Amino acid sequence: MYRRNISNILYPIAGVLGLFIVYEAVVKPAYIQTSPSAPADQESAVDSKEQPPDQAYEPPPDEPSAPAQKQLRLIDAGGVPDTKHHEALEAIREEIEKGNLEAAETQLKGLTAALQADSRTRPYAAILWNNLGIEQEKLEGTKSSLKVFKKAASLDPKNPVIQMNLAHAYWEQRDLAMNQDFLERLIALAPQEPFPHVALADWLQEHGRLGEAARHLDQATERAASDPSMQSYLRTVTSKVQRTDQMEKRLSSRDGAHFIVKYEGDQDHDTWMVVLDILEEAYREIGQNFGHFPTKSVVVVLHPNAIFQANTGSPAWADGLYDPVLGRIHLPTQGALTDRAWLKRVLRHEFVHALLHDQQGINHNSLPTWLNEGLAMQLSSDHWPDVEQLRRHDVSVIPLTALEESWGELSSEAASVAYLEADSATRFLINRYGMHEVQQLLVRLKKKQSLAAAIQSQLSLSYDQFQSRWMAQWHDGRTKGS
Ligand SMILES: [Zn+2]
Repeated sequence: MYRRNISNILYPIAGVLGLFIVYEAVVKPAYIQTSPSAPADQESAVDSKEQPPDQAYEPPPDEPSAPAQKQLRLIDAGGVPDTKHHEALEAIREEIEKGNLEAAETQLKGLTAALQADSRTRPYAAILWNNLGIEQEKLEGTKSSLKVFKKAASLDPKNPVIQMNLAHAYWEQRDLAMNQDFLERLIALAPQEPFPHVALADWLQEHGRLGEAARHLDQATERAASDPSMQSYLRTVTSKVQRTDQMEKRLSSRDGAHFIVKYEGDQDHDTWMVVLDILEEAYREIGQNFGHFPTKSVVVVLHPNAIFQANTGSPAWADGLYDPVLGRIHLPTQGALTDRAWLKRVLRHEFVHALLHDQQGINHNSLPTWLNEGLAMQLSSDHWPDVEQLRRHDVSVIPLTALEESWGELSSEAASVAYLEADSATRFLINRYGMHEVQQLLVRLKKKQSLAAAIQSQLSLSYDQFQSRWMAQWHDGRTKGS
């Protein structure tokens, strides 16, 4: 048996920060919010005794609701400046107000050359570009508005609202241009805004600078004084970042080609070498097979002092933990080297979660849990012995639609069935339609299509039909004893 209960190390880990969630829930401007999400307070996750090890984090239900959005991102385009471009600008403003965005963009582009020499008109044209960006974003999201905000920002680099809008678009697109330089300039321009501090904290934590990240979260908290619920939330997150910083300060760190392994002292010297070997091989093999490689180094934290208990009969406890917020694989290592087969299975499984998280980017939460787990099992070529055992018994099937969200509430029997189904349905999906179609399905989920809509448009059948075809094949396989 390779399953071990690692729940005892999960509680502190579940307490790591949720900067991504801070943004999604607290500072994301209202009209680019696509679903009503509540801010997460991971304290509840810490207290939960049934937290599954590696699922995408989902906020528990009893959290305070998201604070109201107050940012004013559209700029009043009243008073058109009285220059020789007055009429042209007024016409463009009207096109934007009427929703004729293409016409407005063409006309604005026509003005660009003339504006270089006209310092009175330039800031106004920047406002028009900004407002055009807002309208485009409402229709097509930040992918189309980003270049428009860039244009606005280049015409008036000192306008804080425009720079804030550009920052939100950068954030949504995970654009590398949102770096320390850009954010420090933004903080200087908009010193009262919490968002640039949250974004800089996120950038710093991605670069392993948790202490500085905590300081910026602290500053974001101060700036959220007018909003008590945002403030209390930020305070919770800040203290969690500080705790993670303290915990990781004790660890040594070793960089591989594509991974950073953090471990305690010399104790885990042997383990990290083996861990890196396994992961580099997984990187090449699974990345090749799946057609995607992580865009940045994946951090792996080894926990040597975790005490393993005998398995609890639930595959939900079977593996390590992939923390989607900080992008870290957590691995209990006591005895890991005595069971290399187990170590390899766990690492490959968690690596697939890291890979999917990297590929789905900011929308990783839109990946249904059954597909996330199923891909982790299929792509890591891990066939769980217990799942094989379960297959031989009669189990009552849970509809896939009930397995899209967190599995934290499932009993251990139900969790076993959930993994079994995830594995089976994903294998069916890959074998029947091919990896290319699966990739296209993931692209649609990344664009926030629902799974039902994505299946319908990509595979030309309904979610229900997909389920019944899979079930038919499953029953068929079981009666044949496979
Ligand atoms: Zn998993």
